[in-house]
Amino acid sequence: MTKHKILGLLLTAVFLAFSVFGCSALKEDPGLAIDAEGTLRIHYIDVGQGDCALIQTPDNQNILIDTGNPEDYEAINTYLKAQKVEKLNTMLITHPHSDHMGSAEKILKNHTVESVYLPKVAHNTQLFENFMKAMSEKGLKANAAYAGVSIPAGEAVSIELFSPLEGKSYAELNDYSPITRVAYGDTSFLFTGDGENEDEQDAAAQAGLKLKSDVLKVGHHGSDTSTGELFLSLVNPQYAVISVGRDNAYGHPSKDILNKLNGKTVFRTDQEGNVVAISDGQGISFITQASGKLETAVSSAESPADTIVYIGNIKTKKFHLPSCSGLPKADNQTTFATRDGAVEQGYTPCGICKP
Ligand SMILES: [Zn+2]
Ligand SMILES: [Zn+2]
Repeated sequence: MTKHKILGLLLTAVFLAFSVFGCSALKEDPGLAIDAEGTLRIHYIDVGQGDCALIQTPDNQNILIDTGNPEDYEAINTYLKAQKVEKLNTMLITHPHSDHMGSAEKILKNHTVESVYLPKVAHNTQLFENFMKAMSEKGLKANAAYAGVSIPAGEAVSIELFSPLEGKSYAELNDYSPITRVAYGDTSFLFTGDGENEDEQDAAAQAGLKLKSDVLKVGHHGSDTSTGELFLSLVNPQYAVISVGRDNAYGHPSKDILNKLNGKTVFRTDQEGNVVAISDGQGISFITQASGKLETAVSSAESPADTIVYIGNIKTKKFHLPSCSGLPKADNQTTFATRDGAVEQGYTPCGICKP
């Protein structure tokens, strides 16, 4: 198990989101308005063998990158509801394969979607045609997604596309996937869709060292046709997320790719379910559905007072309230379910937040 750092403030809300995710019906309003002040949340939603990520910015913009398979719609819909997503400001579909565009038509029909970005490539499938039809019925026109385009994401967050090259024809549909960098403060996240080596090389030529990101969504579900040496060395991520199905027929993720990611903290949706990265602009914390820590923290959360998780600084041995202005960097954080727990471990209360 990797060492997950948990931002206590968001624990309860996100856990509840997970706990309704698997249910067939949303029994009651789960009350999941995350107190998200000042954070960027990136939800790598577990859609089995496919991609779907929800980006929530500090100023309440919601951006969806990919939509899983057609059969994933209910799960995605439940997840969006649990996160109180009332509208999607933007939906970016990386390419028209059914494990990325699968639920796009239903999302368009059942949710408010303000804008859509797509690479400029058609695909001769019913899925693609139905999606294009749904867009025109909604009066939406796709924005072309290619290198140099920026997607609006509010004041604090930038979303830049480094590929595909405008007007270029790629032999592989996967290579149309925009390599997309989301940045907030000092933190950054790279999205790759199913981009393979040609796409990665174009992005590398376009962006060079600007590819550097803290978190890499590993290309093409961890296939060895992606995540080339040069690309990976430019991105040089500390964390990698692989969106992949359990026991999938493709053997994803490939052993080679896992070896290349050695030394990085790797999150896999086939092993950990939903994976949420939370950035405060300085550091990144992760919460996963499978994290035992998460369950422990929530099972004792009967009353609001119990939901407080204390955040300790492993360097200074001080502990803080999650709302403290002087929280340690994500790398130095540890959490305590109770105040007594922190004191027992030899931690002393912070002088600013006085926990
Ligand atoms: Zn795919
Ligand atoms: Zn694909």
